[in-house]
Amino acid sequence: MIVVMNPKCSNEHVQHVVELLKQMGLKEHVIVGTDRTVIAGIGDKRNVDKGAIENAPFVDRIVPILAPYKVASKEVKQEPTIVTLGPDGDHGPIGAQFGGEKISVIAGPCSVEDEKHLIDIAHAVKAAGATGLRGGAFKPRTNPYSFKGLGETGLKHLAKAREETGLSVITEVMSIEQVDLVAEYADALQIGTRNMHNFNLLMAAGKTNKPIVLKRGWSATLQEFLLAAEYIINEGNDNVILCERGIRTPEEYVRNTLPLAIIPAVKRESHLPIIIDPSQGTGHAYMVPSMSLASIAGGADGLIIEVHQDPEHALTDGAQSITPEVFATLMKDAARVADAVNRTI
Ligand code: PEP
Ligand code: MN
Repeated sequence: MIVVMNPKCSNEHVQHVVELLKQMGLKEHVIVGTDRTVIAGIGDKRNVDKGAIENAPFVDRIVPILAPYKVASKEVKQEPTIVTLGPDGDHGPIGAQFGGEKISVIAGPCSVEDEKHLIDIAHAVKAAGATGLRGGAFKPRTNPYSFKGLGETGLKHLAKAREETGLSVITEVMSIEQVDLVAEYADALQIGTRNMHNFNLLMAAGKTNKPIVLKRGWSATLQEFLLAAEYIINEGNDNVILCERGIRTPEEYVRNTLPLAIIPAVKRESHLPIIIDPSQGTGHAYMVPSMSLASIAGGADGLIIEVHQDPEHALTDGAQSITPEVFATLMKDAARVADAVNRTI
């Protein structure tokens, strides 16, 4: 349920309702909006005395939440959530931001390969206008004999690249045991498509204070995707960025099918920002520029793109990686499309 407070209420009134909800066995989530504060009460309703809440001072009304997801739902919070990335939680001047008027672009190699390689790409994508640097240090691989990433060494290279460029660093965390280590180095934690249903990992990520880039499971529905976000937010971490990375279909001309219609659907259902990964989303470098522009035209809050100086020799995902030159051209075109839809990049 949502407890809608009177615009004139004070902090004490809000605290009073929070205590009431807790006593009734509900978990509270306070959302301070521009007009008024609302308090979502989440959990088992059996011991809830609605009358007592309605009668509390400065409570205007109680509204049931109809969607299965609660704190991720637009019913609870109408204004868009704006997620700002570090460096280091200090919202630096070029920190990537998602959910507002500005569209941010995260770019970089699929995997961190070596320090120099990463720093060169970081400089190139920054010069083209990216505000975030991606790169996997822990790589989930279908084939256990493939390159699985440099681990902590890769995280150190990412931190060095941030130090040199000021870009926010985004990297994947694959297991609960890795959460603290990855959070020590990264400005945002990526939860990959294969782990969207790993509820214990979602909860562990929700206990950190780092923004989470949550990728949609390749066969998850929108509802399941938003429920996964709910797991993170429920642990106290509101900074969730949804990422569409393509789904499995019978199509063979693409690695994954990229359903851009999810953008308006998410905007209708949730206050969370949504970004698009056209690299995993298509599997082909030649498709990345057009799908990036289409994503912006369709209302995406950002992009995450694989960029490599020498895609032919990339250790992972070379076929879908674009060169820094193609990326620079794409960013120029992206600025024009963003302008056409009243956004900046
Ligand atoms: C990636 O970003 O390189 C990646 C492995 O992503 P996904 O989880 O979407 O496959
Ligand atoms: Mn990849």
